[in-house]
Amino acid sequence: MSELDKLYAEIVACSACQRLVDFRHKISCEKRAAYRHEEYWGKPVPGFGDANAQLLIVGLAPAAHGGNRTGRVFTGDGSADFLMQGLYKFGFANQPTSVNRDDGLQLINAYVLAAVRCVPPDNKPTPEEILTCRPFMVKEMALLPKVKAVLALGKIGMDSYINSLPTSERPKPRPQFGHGVVYDINSIRLFGSYHPSRQNTQTGRLTKEMFGDVLGEIKCWLKSR
Ligand code: SF4
Repeated sequence: MSELDKLYAEIVACSACQRLVDFRHKISCEKRAAYRHEEYWGKPVPGFGDANAQLLIVGLAPAAHGGNRTGRVFTGDGSADFLMQGLYKFGFANQPTSVNRDDGLQLINAYVLAAVRCVPPDNKPTPEEILTCRPFMVKEMALLPKVKAVLALGKIGMDSYINSLPTSERPKPRPQFGHGVVYDINSIRLFGSYHPSRQNTQTGRLTKEMFGDVLGEIKCWLKSR
C-alpha cells in the first residue's frame, strides 16, 4: 500500500468533527430525489489525481450531492463539470467530465484536494473544523513532492494552503485572496481563482473564460519550470 493510500484510509476513517459527521450522515440518508436509488458515500473524501503532479488544486469541501455522494472530490455535480471542462481544455485531465469513481477520469500532472474533507452545512465549515482537518492537508502535501503551482479555489482554499505551510515558510505580508492573484512562495507559484461553485458560475461571477485565463497562466508557468 502506498503512503498516499495509507493516508486515504486514515482520512476516510476520521470522525473528529461531530457536527460534520452528523451532517454527512443526514445528507446520505435523506438524499436528493434524483439520486434516491444510489448509496451515498457519506464519509470524508480524500484527494485525487497524479501523485507526481506539478499542479495542486485546493478546493473547499465535498459537495453534499457531489463528492459526499460519489466519494471522489469534485465528482458528480456542476462544480465538477465546470472544473473538469477547464482542466481537460488545458491538458490536465483525460476527459471533460467527472461523474463517478469508475468513470475513467485521470488527472494529468494535476492533483486536487479539499481543505475540509467532510461536507459542511451551507458549504461553511467553522474555523475550528478547518483547523481540525488541516493535518490531513499537511500530510497529503508532503506526499506530493513535485508541486510547482497551486491553484486555490476561493479564500478558504488559499488560506488553508498558506496555513498548511511550515510557519517559517508563510509569506509576509500574507497573500490576500482574489480572482487572478498570483504570489510566489519559495519556488511555488500560488494562483487564486473564484471557486467554481454554482453560486459563482451561474451568476457569471466566474466564467469559463475567466477560469481559462488562470489555467492558461498556470500552464505557461509550468512550461517554464
Ligand atoms: S472534516 Fe476532516 S477532521 Fe473533521 S471529521 Fe471530516 S475528515 Fe475528520
